[in-house]
Amino acid sequence: MGDEITRDFRGETIIFVGVLKGAAIFLSDLARRVELDATFDFIGVSSYGNRPSPSQELLSGWDSTGEVRLTKDVDQSMRDRNVIMVEDILDTGLTMTYLRKIIQAHQPRALKIAALLDKPSRRKQAIEADYVGFKIPDEFVVGYGLDYAERYRNLPDICVIPRN
Ligand code: 5GP
Repeated sequence: MGDEITRDFRGETIIFVGVLKGAAIFLSDLARRVELDATFDFIGVSSYGNRPSPSQELLSGWDSTGEVRLTKDVDQSMRDRNVIMVEDILDTGLTMTYLRKIIQAHQPRALKIAALLDKPSRRKQAIEADYVGFKIPDEFVVGYGLDYAERYRNLPDICVIPRN
């Protein structure tokens, strides 16, 4: 993925916008594989409303409601910048659809999405990442930045939590 981004933006500067907190580890590894003049920013979201508890989530599958709330905005204008949004996992697509709108409003020169993982079978919004690490089935995964009730982010591998 780093090579692809390097090729696509050769001769230009880029800004990685990581989605907190899950994408932090992925961003730090990805950025080190991109041979471009790059800077970082971060954006934070949390779902609210009737999000299920972690244990329900595990049983019934993640089901964000679309009520996404911004907890941290980017620190600078993205106007005329080449922006690569870095996300841990693209699931229903609700979070990324919301965040893409926010960044789009800055009028960037280019806006791309890099997702470590993609669960296409769960999509509710028609949104695709431009760069995808791995397509995975509908399983609940943790590790390498991904959490279960804030735990397991520091596992070095991506692991499936069994639903039963
Ligand atoms: P979406 O809005 O696309 O449904 O959800 C995106 C967010 O849901 C991700 O950034 C991530 O925080 C969370 N998410 C979705 N699937 C999983 C999963 O399998 N494991 C974990 N830990 N989080 C997930």
